[in-house]
Amino acid sequence: MIPAEAKVEVNWQALAQLQLKLATLLDFEALLQEVLREVTANTAAKSAAVLFLENLTGTGNIILRPVGITRYTPGSIQPLRESIGFSIANSSDAAISAWAEHRFYTSDETNSALKPLIDVLQWQKWAGAPSFVGDQLTAAVLVEIDGALSALDQGWLSAFSAGVGIALKNTRLHTQAIAGLNARMNELAILQRIDLELSEQIEPDHVYEMTLDWAMRYTGSQCGTIATYDEATNALRFVSELGYEGQADTRAMMRASARGGIARRVANSGRSDNIPDITSDPDYMPVAAQIRSHLSIPVNKEDRVIAVISVESRKLNHYTDDHMTFLERLAARAGNAMDNARLFAETVSEREKLSRIVSNIADVVIVFDENNNVLLMNQSAIPVLRLYADGKYEGKPAAEVLSDTALLEVYDKSRTYHQPINEEVKMPNGRAYNAQLSWHANIGRILVLQDITSLKETDQLKNELISTVSHDLKQPLTVMNGYLELLQLTQTFEGRSLEYIQNARRSIMNMRGLIDDLLNLAKIESGIQLNVSSLEIKPLLQGCINGIRGAAAAKMIAIDFSVEPVDLYLAGDLTSINQVFSNLIGNAVKYTSPEGKVTVKAEKNGDAVLVTIQDTGLGISPEDQARIFDRFYRVRRPETDNIEGTGLGLAIVKRLVEIHRGQIGVESRLGEGSKFFVRLPLGKPEAPPAEPEAAQE
Ligand code: ADP
Repeated sequence: MIPAEAKVEVNWQALAQLQLKLATLLDFEALLQEVLREVTANTAAKSAAVLFLENLTGTGNIILRPVGITRYTPGSIQPLRESIGFSIANSSDAAISAWAEHRFYTSDETNSALKPLIDVLQWQKWAGAPSFVGDQLTAAVLVEIDGALSALDQGWLSAFSAGVGIALKNTRLHTQAIAGLNARMNELAILQRIDLELSEQIEPDHVYEMTLDWAMRYTGSQCGTIATYDEATNALRFVSELGYEGQADTRAMMRASARGGIARRVANSGRSDNIPDITSDPDYMPVAAQIRSHLSIPVNKEDRVIAVISVESRKLNHYTDDHMTFLERLAARAGNAMDNARLFAETVSEREKLSRIVSNIADVVIVFDENNNVLLMNQSAIPVLRLYADGKYEGKPAAEVLSDTALLEVYDKSRTYHQPINEEVKMPNGRAYNAQLSWHANIGRILVLQDITSLKETDQLKNELISTVSHDLKQPLTVMNGYLELLQLTQTFEGRSLEYIQNARRSIMNMRGLIDDLLNLAKIESGIQLNVSSLEIKPLLQGCINGIRGAAAAKMIAIDFSVEPVDLYLAGDLTSINQVFSNLIGNAVKYTSPEGKVTVKAEKNGDAVLVTIQDTGLGISPEDQARIFDRFYRVRRPETDNIEGTGLGLAIVKRLVEIHRGQIGVESRLGEGSKFFVRLPLGKPEAPPAEPEAAQE
């Protein structure tokens, strides 16, 4: 209330202007300072203080607190602001009651509720005027006075303080709005920085550590972890941790035994989890002492949880919704970076694996880029191209690296024709290579060299043998056959003589067949056509033995022959099977000393026929046993020096047995003889001739 006598004397216009000026101030603290200054300037007050509602939006217990005092800076008043407050609800205090009734109050001797403040300020006498916003007592302006305050000062103070409440309230709201905006701006700035920093990071460990560091700093956490999550195995892998003390191994073990604890729960649910008190959470893993609250946030990548960020605090109920929102925003950004980092790490490891494989393969591999410079070259290239072992060839032009070799021509050809090239080249190291050059988009030209020297040598040997065999054997056979034909044309043969001639011609034909088989060894390799039929074993083996009998008799070698059961059949191609057994029995006789013994035995063995050719001959050492089936391999020993052979027989035998889906093996001891086994598929006896129709009736 404005005292009646002051009404005429207060300079209302000046006051209105002053209040207008106060209303333009937007900063709470600046406004307070202005209020205090104006009060002491316009009245006889020695100093002043402003009380203001603690919480404008608060309900229940409304408290006035000292917010501005002459000579107190905002910093020095802070302890008073926090410790001194005057409840205004139902207050029986004289000052507060007076203000509640819109009255000016001048202190008397009664012990006011405001005494703690007055004592601190060391005021002897004081007065105060209230300020309302609507019906609510919002502020009070207190002044330190000597004696009584003049009616004019009282009037001015009452009128002035009436506007202080609303001005303070407005600036407080404004300040809060600005603070909120600042916090948001700050958060945005932080997120922007995070974006920038994360986008520059591709190393997974850095990405994890940086993300965790930001999460902990923003939330004021003491510890934190990042765990990557694999949906397929439902497993977490703790990849980064900060702030924990003691043994990391112990923590890792605890986490493993708890299968990830809260972090795993969050990974499974895909939802953030704020645990204000960890003692109430059964999934909490006590990996660090003194931790009271925990916050875990999932990191998503396209609806998939790929990681979990967890932060922990020593304060109970530490994490706010703001913390959670910030961490979720951080997680959204980190998700991409983490995924990129993971992909990058995978690519790097794949690349390393690949380059290790390339550098270790025996073939020469050189990759040239679009400008014909070396992009990659493996170790094998060094000796083949006669380069320096410690030289750096990446980036060097093809013309330099391939210089003085036939490869340069091949390379130029590939550039001209843009076609994959496959050519045989002879390199300066004297070896032959198969060079393949092909163009691959986004990579360049890939040159691969395979060493085919041994293949070439074998090929050469084979060619020599074949030409010898075909020339030296085929030629006389043709002549022999021709004379026999001529003989039959000029002479008439009957009975036994005709049989002899025909036997001789058949033998010639058999030999020709054998030679043709030899010539077609390559054909066997690439899969010859078998004319499979059921072959009765006894006559078949007998035929083979008969063919060798002459040689055996010459060395007085006895051939023992048995078939059990007698009517045993095998399924095979006649020429090939003949070739197999003639060869094996022939070898047995050939590699057995005079007066030795050869045993040929055929028996049924499950669904196969087992033929054993055993001799009492030279025997074969274990090392040679491993090689006798190789092409052109002959045992070189003094005992075998005078024995003729090509080293091809067993190679052909093995191949023929294999293409019959059979097996061949040898058991032998040097000096004691050898035992060759052949297993071949069982054949069926030929169907008996059909019964006459009459007999069926
Ligand atoms: P070749 O008999 O023309 O030398 P093979 O391929 O038939 O060629 O045999 C390879 C080698 O295996 C022979 O050189 C010989 O040393 C050895 N060998 C084959 N059969 C016997 C055998 N029954 N006893 C001892 N050695 C044998």
